[in-house]
Amino acid sequence: MPELPEVQTTVNGIKPYLINKKIKSCSVFVKKLRWNLQKDLTKKIINLKILEITRRAKYIIISGNNFYLTIHLGMTGTLRIASKKDMRMKHDHFEIQLSSNKILRFNDPRKFGMIFYSIKHPTLFHKLLINLGPEPLNKDFNDEYLFTKTRNRSVAIKSLLMNSNIVVGIGNIYASESLFLSGIKPSKASKTLTKKNCRDLVVSIKNVLKEAIKKGGSSINDYINVDGKSGYFQFDFKVYGRTSQPCHICQSDILQIKINQRSSFYCKNCQK
Ligand SMILES: [Zn+2]
Repeated sequence: MPELPEVQTTVNGIKPYLINKKIKSCSVFVKKLRWNLQKDLTKKIINLKILEITRRAKYIIISGNNFYLTIHLGMTGTLRIASKKDMRMKHDHFEIQLSSNKILRFNDPRKFGMIFYSIKHPTLFHKLLINLGPEPLNKDFNDEYLFTKTRNRSVAIKSLLMNSNIVVGIGNIYASESLFLSGIKPSKASKTLTKKNCRDLVVSIKNVLKEAIKKGGSSINDYINVDGKSGYFQFDFKVYGRTSQPCHICQSDILQIKINQRSSFYCKNCQK
């Protein structure tokens, strides 16, 4: 599943091809992704000029004067820039033809992605975007904030980190990695985290995400950069997917457990 770094990498990658370009036409090849696409979507966006591409949580927001096209990549979605001569690929469900003659293509084998048009900014009204927690790389996600949010909560810290009402965009991979880097066991009850734990965790989360963005994202499955290059860097993972392999610090075996139905990886020596 694309996580925040992959989505940010996608935004960075498509941006130069989209800014100040007009939407010449738009084609829908599959009408239903996670939900049905708006019936008049293609009509609504024709001739609009794209002025900005931003990201909020894992939503990509393409916008111009009084319009917003919000895209979520779901479990397996990717966006790529193609030329007219490039054949469509299997699972290409949606595309926008630009005034530059380039094409923005949305591919999604499992069809959990979403695309919708609005005249208001989606964070002002859409049920999935209105209650989102802070961005992990912003200043409002800090040790004080995390300490406050963890009080009175018995839920495992890993699950708390993956709750987008608390903080957005941290999925299984980066939750596992940042907990290892801060020496905190993923199953630890949130309310038992000390102030120091919260400080270490916030620093680790920011570092691990920044590093991943620098390297171009990292999801194991189906992730391809907009220029078609693989964005994998799973070989750098300290714990994620490394069941029974030696910990890089103490050499003990990395353990795998389930927390809230999700595989979680940790070192029982290094994480308390
Ligand atoms: Zn260890």
